[in-house]
Amino acid sequence: MLTSICGINWGDEGKGRMVDLLSEKFDIVCRYQGGNNAGHTVINDKGRFILNLLPSGILREDVVNVMGPGMVIDIKHLCGEIEKLREGGIKISPKNLKISDKAIITMPYNVLQDVMEEDRLTKATGKPYGSTRRGIAPVYADKYMKKAFRMGELLNLALLYKRLPDIVEWKNLTIKAYGFEPVTVEAMKEYFETYGKPLADYVCDVGIYLNEANKAGKNIMFEAQLGALRDIDFGIVPYTSSSSTIAAYAPIGAGVPNLKLNNSIGIMKAYSSCVGAGPFTCEYFGDKAEKLRELGGEYGAATGRPRRVGPFDVVASRYGIRCQGADEIALTKLDVLSGYEEIEICTHYTLDGKVIDEFPFTDVLDECKPVFEKVKGWNCDISKCRKAGDLPKAALDYIKLLEKLCGCKIKYVSVGAERDAYIEM
Ligand code: GDP
Ligand code: MG
Repeated sequence: MLTSICGINWGDEGKGRMVDLLSEKFDIVCRYQGGNNAGHTVINDKGRFILNLLPSGILREDVVNVMGPGMVIDIKHLCGEIEKLREGGIKISPKNLKISDKAIITMPYNVLQDVMEEDRLTKATGKPYGSTRRGIAPVYADKYMKKAFRMGELLNLALLYKRLPDIVEWKNLTIKAYGFEPVTVEAMKEYFETYGKPLADYVCDVGIYLNEANKAGKNIMFEAQLGALRDIDFGIVPYTSSSSTIAAYAPIGAGVPNLKLNNSIGIMKAYSSCVGAGPFTCEYFGDKAEKLRELGGEYGAATGRPRRVGPFDVVASRYGIRCQGADEIALTKLDVLSGYEEIEICTHYTLDGKVIDEFPFTDVLDECKPVFEKVKGWNCDISKCRKAGDLPKAALDYIKLLEKLCGCKIKYVSVGAERDAYIEM
């Protein structure tokens, strides 16, 4: 069984918590794209954990975790993340963590590039991309320029060091043009020595491992970072991530392009949130936004930034479901809407006075206006509900309405951040 778990919206839908929950039925969890710009918060019996690079299955002892070739890995950050989890009592060894030899290494100068460019953009245009400043776009650019380093190179540093001086020289052309201090070959060698060497034992051809596991009938889950609207091809350009967050990419990014997904579970939030810049048509402002942000605790897991919020967006979510090819939905954070007598839904957009049902070419999003409709709220605590029958009628009606408007079955509903706070419909 090969299942992908992907975000339907702008990210932060609660993918981490759903992977943590659903991974019970899986033997292997793979991350297949992105880097430490991800922030998954998982709360379970062992405590509260924030995962940036490690797959969320790392918190279950019998799950093997794979970091695929589609990822970009900041090795310093990964060493720190492993250390922190170990302090929290999580066991991590090459037995339960396998890193693709083809995954790309995020370099310190990529982080510098990200900062330099966001600052330049801010000064030049007042409109930065809202990057997490963790070097993700520059390192993916290096990958496509064929000037990046791969995790497999950690196994033969002498060979890597032959390539290093020319790449440093090439990178310094850019850094100097921004007016910053060039980086040195020595500093980069130190980066590999300090943070690369301890990871070498985890590096392997994960494709061999995953194919054998699949043949043996193991259940494999592919965990996405971010949502459909942040996908490099299908998202809101340029406010996207720099990788493919789409389910169809999962087998490639995980190292098994020969395998086909059996199903795709889309994680969709009961309302909307968005980190960073760019158009966000259904956005609330002022007191309305403040209330929803507080109720939902909408502050970034990776950065602490307050997230922009709004009601559920049917137009964007339907597009997200299509991009992800979602077979079923896990609807998260329904409990957050418990404090409302009436709940708004963004059912349509209008553009130049015309009603829009389909998510448009993203350049016109700035001109789109949201159309809000109101439905009855339940206005009572639902966080203790564990089966559909426990839910008040208005909450069930809300779920059914989203199902109908989005055209996809809602299989799970979460009503709290804890592992067991969910309902299987
Ligand atoms: P991810 O990036 O998609 O994994 O999501 P994040 O972890 O960034 O954001 C989701 C946040 O909502 C986290 O703080 C979770 O602990 C929290 N959360 C997840 N599911 C629920 C839920 O059903 N109810 C509530 N109240 N919080 C939830
Ligand atoms: Mg997140």
